[in-house]
Amino acid sequence: MNRVTQLPVAQEPRVVVVGGGLAGLAAAAGLLDAGLAVTILEGRRRAGGRAASFDDPVSGGLVDACQHVAMGCCTNFLDLCRRAGLEHALRRDRTLWFIGPDGDRSRCTPSRWLPAPLHLAPLLFGMRHFSLREKAALAFGMLRLARLRPRQTADAQTALAWLQAAGQPPRVIELFWQPVIESALGESIDLVSVAAARKVAVDGFLAHRDAADLVVPMEPLGILFGERLVAWLASRGATIRMAAAASAIERDAAGCVVAVRCGDERVPCDAAVLAVPWKAAGRLVPDLVAADDDRFTGSPITAVHLWFDRAIVDLPHAVLVGRVSQWVFRGDEHAGDGPSNQGYCQVVISASRGLMGGDREAVVKAVVAELREVFPAARDAALIDSKVVTDPTAVLSVRPGVEMLRPGPTTAVSNLFLAGDWTDTGWPSTMEGAIRSGRTAADAVAASLGRRLASLVGDLPKNPLVRLLSGR
Ligand SMILES: Cc1cc2nc3c(=O)[nH]c(=O)nc-3n(C[C@H](O)[C@H](O)[C@H](O)COP(=O)(O)OP(=O)(O)OC[C@H]3O[C@@H](n4cnc5c(N)ncnc54)[C@H](O)[C@@H]3O)c2cc1C
Repeated sequence: MNRVTQLPVAQEPRVVVVGGGLAGLAAAAGLLDAGLAVTILEGRRRAGGRAASFDDPVSGGLVDACQHVAMGCCTNFLDLCRRAGLEHALRRDRTLWFIGPDGDRSRCTPSRWLPAPLHLAPLLFGMRHFSLREKAALAFGMLRLARLRPRQTADAQTALAWLQAAGQPPRVIELFWQPVIESALGESIDLVSVAAARKVAVDGFLAHRDAADLVVPMEPLGILFGERLVAWLASRGATIRMAAAASAIERDAAGCVVAVRCGDERVPCDAAVLAVPWKAAGRLVPDLVAADDDRFTGSPITAVHLWFDRAIVDLPHAVLVGRVSQWVFRGDEHAGDGPSNQGYCQVVISASRGLMGGDREAVVKAVVAELREVFPAARDAALIDSKVVTDPTAVLSVRPGVEMLRPGPTTAVSNLFLAGDWTDTGWPSTMEGAIRSGRTAADAVAASLGRRLASLVGDLPKNPLVRLLSGR
């Protein structure tokens, strides 16, 4: 009798990704590309991490805890969204709307046909709240910032110290550099490094005609990432487990990771990616990441949610300069049908440390008064409801010296990898940074298992003039 020998089914190496924020989800996408078996363990009931939404008390739909925007220079964010079929849910605002201290509206649109960096001329010169001299000083300052070389920028100087030393007029600092740098980096200009500010100027403005485009999600983040991105990963074979907080990383005698523990449960694996914030990583692997390293500091961002009885914001978005309110979003991009949604808007305040002594009522009062100053329709509108949401550690504070501390994707343990917006991506703590970190970690995992993977997408191409200016 012939015996049929059952050959063992070739099992793909199993990788557990701890954390279902954008870093973890991007890592999972890359690992699936490499043909690996992926399990994501997310501690909360919904994936997406800090890019999250909550239930709207007025309409019953979802509202983003804080409006997130990307920019045209966020190539990996855009690429992931395109691959996952989410591109249709992103709006591109080419015009940036600034509202000056006296309420003057500036419509600032980069040129579509002038070569970079000249494409910025209409944007800079469109700022009505600056005199001609101030506009020229601003353009000159931006070029000088771009020309800083890495050795010069690696020092301990803050952006504010550099801008002042470079002779930027106080009004230009207050009404341009402060709002632009603070909103891009989520931290105040007297704390961030000049290297981080230079990154904003070069990659976010000078590099390319499309770099400064504002990319605004038109669906709640909780649906976009928490549902659609997750569903796309599941359709490609990933196992995604919610409410599954990793409690320990199990290692063998040689120190290699063999499983991730969720309470009593053990999830065996051949490699693991920790895609959690630095404190959570420090709790799971204290020998590799110091949870109490106070050189890593978070910066707070506050979102003021306002429900009026009618629509008050007549612009797609607005940057309010010289005020408490920094960014205003209409919020009806993804509103439901209820009439109350038309009156919803959100004000975002970055680097909100100590904002009005933590007095939420005072914050709402100040913000509503400012909106009534700049949006005529708000003057007769009644405020139905409000909610102030502050994340005290919204983003990593990119202070001088922090770049040197941010770890790369590999660790001293050969099959344990790190991802997250706080790791060494060369980017500030953003959705783009998180996705880059996840993709870099996936590449490193694949390489460790003898597979080739190159998931990172390059920056927007820089023309020779920009390369000459920025020295890269
Ligand atoms: C208020 C606010 C406004 C922001 N605005 C912008 C913006 O406009 N544009 C922009 O680009 N970026 C913005 N950001 C930053 C952006 O949200 C983050 O950079 C990005 O989402 C970080 O992704 P991440 O995956 O690295 O981390 P996280 O999103 O923090 O994800 C980590 C995940 O790990 C999970 N986790 C933690 N511990 C465990 C465990 N033990 N087991 C399992 N799971 C665990 C967490 O629940 C979380 O889901 C903002 C952030 C905040 C808070």
